[in-house]
Amino acid sequence: MGTVTSQTSAKRFAPDRIAILGGGPGGYEAAMVAADAGAEVTIVEEKGMGGSAVLTDVVPSKTLIATADAMRRVNASTAFGVRFGEHSSDKYETEAWADFSKVNQRLMKLAHSQSRDIHASVEAAGVRIIAGHGRLVAPTNIEVTTEAGETTVLEADAVIIATGAHPRELGSAKPDGERILNWTQAYNLTEVPEHMIVVGSGVTGAEFASAYRRLGADVTLVSSRDQVLPGEDSDAASVLENSFARAGVKVASRSRAESVERTENGVKVTLTDGRVLDGSHCLMAVGGIPNTENIGLEEAGVETTESGHIRVDTVSRTTAAGVYAAGDCTGMMPLASVAAMQGRIAVAHMQGEAVKPLQLHRVASNVFTSPEIATVGVTQAQVDSGKYQTDVVKLDLATNPRAKMMNIREGFVKIFSRKGSGTVIGAVVVAPRASELIFPLALAVTHKLHVDDVAGTFTVYPSLSGSLSEAARRLHLHVAEPNQS
Ligand SMILES: Cc1cc2nc3c(=O)[nH]c(=O)nc-3n(C[C@H](O)[C@H](O)[C@H](O)COP(=O)(O)OP(=O)(O)OC[C@H]3O[C@@H](n4cnc5c(N)ncnc54)[C@H](O)[C@@H]3O)c2cc1C
Repeated sequence: MGTVTSQTSAKRFAPDRIAILGGGPGGYEAAMVAADAGAEVTIVEEKGMGGSAVLTDVVPSKTLIATADAMRRVNASTAFGVRFGEHSSDKYETEAWADFSKVNQRLMKLAHSQSRDIHASVEAAGVRIIAGHGRLVAPTNIEVTTEAGETTVLEADAVIIATGAHPRELGSAKPDGERILNWTQAYNLTEVPEHMIVVGSGVTGAEFASAYRRLGADVTLVSSRDQVLPGEDSDAASVLENSFARAGVKVASRSRAESVERTENGVKVTLTDGRVLDGSHCLMAVGGIPNTENIGLEEAGVETTESGHIRVDTVSRTTAAGVYAAGDCTGMMPLASVAAMQGRIAVAHMQGEAVKPLQLHRVASNVFTSPEIATVGVTQAQVDSGKYQTDVVKLDLATNPRAKMMNIREGFVKIFSRKGSGTVIGAVVVAPRASELIFPLALAVTHKLHVDDVAGTFTVYPSLSGSLSEAARRLHLHVAEPNQS
């Protein structure tokens, strides 16, 4: 499909009735915006509002990671002079341990209460929520089957499909929910796994490997590539690999899992190179499959790609008139923030509002490992391929005074500016809470700020963000003296 470049779409049919299939971030954000604009909105959701994002993916995993981070900080606190136990005792009890049933209870409670909050605010906005399974029966009509088996047809003027994705399974490594797990089943454990083998070194695999290690498990990460996080900045991946090595995460690189079987007390993972790994549990993190089967797409004229994703353009239109799609079912970029943006864009477009098409190069994203890796804009790989002519400054955090106070020894800030103009076009931050530090650089990329704008903005002294402005200041030299290497 062609890219839509116009900023404004003509008033075309401004639908009164909008039906949304799926109540995750792609669906519920669209519903809120559409209801706010006065449309009659209905969401069909079969599992719970908030979707997988809230119930099984983002919220539980990031809550688990928050506990892992608390453990890391407690265990690292002796370096700050913190002691536990009797004041005068020279025996220090410094080893923290995770009460896993409490940890998991907490995160499930949080996920369900977040789902209820979303349900309540969506309903309060005037959106009708129908619990049931939906499928398109005409381009803009949805047939809903409730849990009780009753069927109704919902007629609408426009539809948004936001059905998300589910974990990919390998035939020879079927999750059983006890020892062989996918990420939706990882929260049933009542004890820290003795030895977790994580298959897949993408974002999900790396995050779980990092978290389980910090929580006290032995961890082996099976990675098919030379380096973990193959899609991320390779300097950042290298920092993470070093951090994994120091923390004791074993990485079986350049190897794929051929099969995973249960043994009497655990699991046996056989790799394609013949090696066999024994562990207590195995977490499969080998990607997601879009929920696009048997929901009437073909009959409605909604095209899918070879991978099963719904084909959409940058204003969320599918190939069928009046049918939009948002989120993981489109395969644009599997992030909750992108799903929500696609949903909002769909509503703006169908209502003839000014539309800013989705621009993936502006998406700020984060890998919640320890340390975190946050990125926005142009990547090092794109620069290396010659796609962009840039100046680059990479500044290690080790020299930052706040980092020293916080005992942060790894991590960096990297900023890319366009050669000649000095506009900030990309950045990578590797640090604890990099997810919070990336925002000023995302602002800079989105609003095409000059490196001097970043360098000239006050930062708190001492602060990690001081390194953001320092990196920009160093880039100024490249802009001012273009012949600098
Ligand atoms: C472990 C993990 C961690 C992640 N962490 C992050 C993170 O930190 N930050 C981030 O931005 N992203 C993260 N993601 C990605 C994020 O979860 C997804 O991008 C996001 O959930 C996509 O939202 P969505 O609305 O497309 O789909 P979903 O959240 O999957 O919601 C889709 C909803 O549609 C419903 N549905 C499907 N089919 C039907 C049907 N036929 N009838 C009725 N209802 C239906 C489902 O029940 C589901 O509730 C993570 C993903 C994983 C796997």
